[in-house]
Amino acid sequence: MSKLTLKERIFIPTYDNIEELSPGEVEFDYDKCNACAICIEACPAGTIIMEDKKPKMKPPGENECIFCGDCMAICPKDAISMKTPYRCTLFFKTIDHGKVKLPRL
Ligand code: SF4
Ligand code: SF4
Repeated sequence: MSKLTLKERIFIPTYDNIEELSPGEVEFDYDKCNACAICIEACPAGTIIMEDKKPKMKPPGENECIFCGDCMAICPKDAISMKTPYRCTLFFKTIDHGKVKLPRL
């Protein structure tokens, strides 16, 4: 902590401000999806919901997707694709997002 300047300490974001966060987003292919809801159980952020037998991301402001890829990896129908990565802004500098990889199972 002592390596941070006073100004840096004051401006460390708490990330409870949606302006400082850009959550991830995944897409669902409803032609493939069978509404099994496994993705909802697997999502560590609890950000997938089921509406009218279709999985969806929670609406903006409630979406807390960390772009982990668990839902895509576990979907038995290959119906999920990764769309927009999770980003922290303001304090952190983006170096390289790299290519999205499946998590190790
Ligand atoms: S795991 Fe795949 S098939 Fe099952 S509800 Fe989610 S998107 Fe649909
Ligand atoms: S990528 Fe991870 S956090 Fe985002 S919806 Fe899928 S399981 Fe949830």
